Amino acid sequence: MTRVAIIGGGITGLSAAWHLQQQQIPFTLYEASDRVGGAIRTHHEADCLIEAGPNSLSGPNPQLDRLIEQLNLTSELCPANADASNRFIVRNGTPHPLPRTPLQFLQTPLFSAAAKWRLLQEPFIRTQSPPNETLADFAQRRLGREPLDYALAPFVGGIYAGNPHTLSAAAAFPTLIEMEAQHHSLIKAMLHRAKQQRKAGKPREPRTIYTFKNGMQTLPDRIAEQLHPHIQLHQPVHHIQPLAQHLWNIHGEEYTDIILTLPAHTQPQLDTPFDLSFLQTIRHPAVTSLTLLYEKQQLTHPLNGFGMLVPPCENRFILGVLFPHSIFPDRAPPQHALLTVFIGGDLHPQRANLPLEELLPPVENDLQHLLGLTGSPRHTSLHRWPNAIPQYTLDIPAIHQQLNHIETHHPGIHFAGTYRHGISISNALTSGETIAQRIMQSPRKEYGTTST
Ligand SMILES: Cc1cc2nc3c(=O)[nH]c(=O)nc-3n(C[C@H](O)[C@H](O)[C@H](O)COP(=O)(O)OP(=O)(O)OC[C@H]3O[C@@H](n4cnc5c(N)ncnc54)[C@H](O)[C@@H]3O)c2cc1C
Repeated sequence: MTRVAIIGGGITGLSAAWHLQQQQIPFTLYEASDRVGGAIRTHHEADCLIEAGPNSLSGPNPQLDRLIEQLNLTSELCPANADASNRFIVRNGTPHPLPRTPLQFLQTPLFSAAAKWRLLQEPFIRTQSPPNETLADFAQRRLGREPLDYALAPFVGGIYAGNPHTLSAAAAFPTLIEMEAQHHSLIKAMLHRAKQQRKAGKPREPRTIYTFKNGMQTLPDRIAEQLHPHIQLHQPVHHIQPLAQHLWNIHGEEYTDIILTLPAHTQPQLDTPFDLSFLQTIRHPAVTSLTLLYEKQQLTHPLNGFGMLVPPCENRFILGVLFPHSIFPDRAPPQHALLTVFIGGDLHPQRANLPLEELLPPVENDLQHLLGLTGSPRHTSLHRWPNAIPQYTLDIPAIHQQLNHIETHHPGIHFAGTYRHGISISNALTSGETIAQRIMQSPRKEYGTTST
């Protein structure tokens, strides 16, 4: 009987398992730690709900909506407050709201008049992205220097904890390249999309941000409940042994297919008949998230937004801050502010490794200057991510080709996860589903049924 082994019980592995189970394909999921969810980790401390890793999901995302419905989680959803659509970016030591309308764009002090004029020239720039263009070169070519420094660079810091000068435009943000290829302009591409939606009579679907009442951990926990007997915790996989006739051995069990969802930087440690050392070249910079609880009166800024991003050119210590108590209800006691500060990333990974006593003073110094903080936190919660997010740098396409090569030459081996199909939770869910579908559609197997 054909069976699938999934290595890693993060959201990628759980997604693969969920989709295999839907088709009654037998599987075992091996997770090294004592819990599922991987980077998704919710803590309840000091009357606060604190996310050590991912803080929210974003829509519209029909695939995620379907999963939430299938898991009966609709009543657990917690949409973001209206304020969460405000985002602040620091310029000259002051947080400014990111403009959301053309009028706000014309009025914002985030960009100079010359930069705004340059930005409006974007539709007339005829050049196309050359191969191996970095994100910084793409942004500077199409949008100019200030939008790179005061929009793209801080967003890349917030999403990838990355550096636009090393990230690949095509690999990290493929839609930008598609927009340019199809419409010769990002502005024209956006106008075209809006026009198409109007023509089709579809109102523009607003971007939504949400989590669950009990935090992000709800999602992996609920999936795991449905998969219960097939998940093995405390079961790190160290060896993948080939057997005859394209079968594989893990922990003494035979499998026809193996899905590797563990982080790329750990895979070279596996004992495998194929070389995975090239995965070591994917950089995973360290990030530390420090969640601090204050009384609201300790801060002069109203914190009426999702958070604040700090462009690297502002020469501050922190990458940015989320305002969880403003984003979602019931994250902190009344009259309190919960701030999650991110430190480190690809530009300053060493900062993420500092002990708390050396980390807190420069963090508080930034919060004093940028948000008007006075006094000490009422509660502190530190979470370290020594290998936080895979960086989609210029060499990532070659790495993906090597993964394809292994899959072709070692039937039954599959790679899924954020090192392959994008870095967000939505990407991870799609990655797990894509590989599960591929296994289901594979012609060479006859599947048995799950023994529940
Ligand atoms: C600080 C931070 C904030 C983030 N914020 C957001 C956000 O707000 N929104 C968003 O969409 N995304 C966010 N992300 C990204 C998101 O967390 C990831 O996309 C997603 O959680 C990755 O899931 P995964 O299953 O691929 O990997 P992981 O979550 O890393 O799971 C891998 C699993 O493999 C297990 N494992 C490792 N080695 C072995 C072994 N040898 N054998 C068996 N098991 C093993 C690990 O224990 C782990 O459980 C954030 C990431 C970080 C680090």
